Amino acid sequence: MFNIRKKIYSVLQSEEVNYKATVMGWVRTFRNNQFIALNDGSTNNNLQVVAALGLLDESVMKRITTGACIKVTGEVVASLGKAQRVELKADSLEILGDSDSEKFPLQPKKHSLEFLRENAHIRFRTNTFGAIFRVRHSLAFAIHQFFNDRGFVYMHTPIITGSDAEGAGEMFRVTTLPLDGSAPKNEDGSINYKEDFFGKSTNLTVSGQLEGELAAMAFADVYTFGPTFRAENSNTTRHLAEFWMIEPEVAFNDLEDNMNLAEEFIKYIIKYAMDKNAEDLAFLSQRLEEEEKQKPLAERAGMGLLEKLNFVVNNDFERLTYTEAIQILKESSHNKKKKFQYLIEEWGADLQSEHERYLVEKHFKKPVILTDYPKDIKSFYMRMNDDGKTVAAMDILAPGIGEIVGGSQREERLDKLLQRMEEMNVPAVELDFYLDTRRFGACPHAGFGLGFERLVLFVTGMTNIRDVIPFPRYPKSAAF
Ligand code: ATP
Ligand code: MN
Repeated sequence: MFNIRKKIYSVLQSEEVNYKATVMGWVRTFRNNQFIALNDGSTNNNLQVVAALGLLDESVMKRITTGACIKVTGEVVASLGKAQRVELKADSLEILGDSDSEKFPLQPKKHSLEFLRENAHIRFRTNTFGAIFRVRHSLAFAIHQFFNDRGFVYMHTPIITGSDAEGAGEMFRVTTLPLDGSAPKNEDGSINYKEDFFGKSTNLTVSGQLEGELAAMAFADVYTFGPTFRAENSNTTRHLAEFWMIEPEVAFNDLEDNMNLAEEFIKYIIKYAMDKNAEDLAFLSQRLEEEEKQKPLAERAGMGLLEKLNFVVNNDFERLTYTEAIQILKESSHNKKKKFQYLIEEWGADLQSEHERYLVEKHFKKPVILTDYPKDIKSFYMRMNDDGKTVAAMDILAPGIGEIVGGSQREERLDKLLQRMEEMNVPAVELDFYLDTRRFGACPHAGFGLGFERLVLFVTGMTNIRDVIPFPRYPKSAAF
């Protein structure tokens, strides 16, 4: 058996000393022809491997370069150095994979996030990205744990969809028809999708919600957690063309139940990562602190990362209606001094990210749940309130990010739903399957969508969404 290794994480964590172990990993640095800092991705902390002078041939020594992969067997002993408790005294060392240090993109120095993004295939091997992706993993695991503990059924909603009812124009088309103009045409010159692979025009999904609702009408508590795609041309630090979304859908929940679920859920998964990834988060917190020092005082976040996460886990989110929020924004000094790019003039205005962030960061200084938005700026499936003007929607806004969750109580009344669809030009024929849930045993129900990468951004304290997904897709970029 080749793989008899011990993970570096367990070597460093264990109290035990004076035992034999084999470790494998990638060289971070090699100092004084003796000290190798070895990392295997199980933790950000490197294991110090000591190759006593004379142990290795000159020819092997030359191959211990930054990025090289090695296998070392030796004795784990208490370290004399101050920087680590234990180290590995090598008995034998084997080079598994050479790395030409002249050409290896990572040098033992600080690299910019932009440079690392261009080298995303290698950036996993840095401390920052090691920490980010271990945290991302924990968050993903915690999501399943949370729902599983509460009896939810994980429903895999389709990735290729035939309905473009939601957010048409923002979708990626899926087709096997030729693009060179030779695709079969209808008499009016338009493309004949009956000849396409699925016999109709299809797209990549923008949300699993509608299918989630179908399943909720049988299992009551369901969730999806999968990739979603949006061809929106928004080159921001908060948008990706391919991102992962968590979408619970719960029968018998109203808007308040929905808010309670979302708040409990967010706190649970953050708490989980804080427990499981304490070292990674401490590292990221430190990283952020150093980054903040480079900024002018007025732009600094004020709270450290760990402090922020603790605060979010231990305090209630602020809940208020859209109407109350508009009032606050209208009367804010920001609005009066025309500091917003989009000034808040009247009720009905769609909130921009600058407004969301003002509410969260300047006014309340905590996460905020906004409810009961004007019907005209929200989707057709949101439940109409008795005032006839607002719908039972809720958005959760987080410091540093803005919208992190969008959700609502769904319109379960067939007549009201049909009316909204007509008003918003949503073709009822295409959504007949969806309308069936309102025809046969409809019930009050609610759900939300949480953008996974926005959550990872929040927890890691990173500022660009392209740094929290392994291989980001955004306008003009689909590398790797
Ligand atoms: P925004 O106004 O920020 O574009 P949205 O209103 O389009 O968001 P929803 O359609 O409600 O968002 O989607 C649910 C959640 O998915 C959002 O709250 C957000 O966390 C996330 N999300 C939406 N679009 C993107 C994107 N392009 N990249 C990453 N996450 C996204
Ligand atoms: Mn959007």
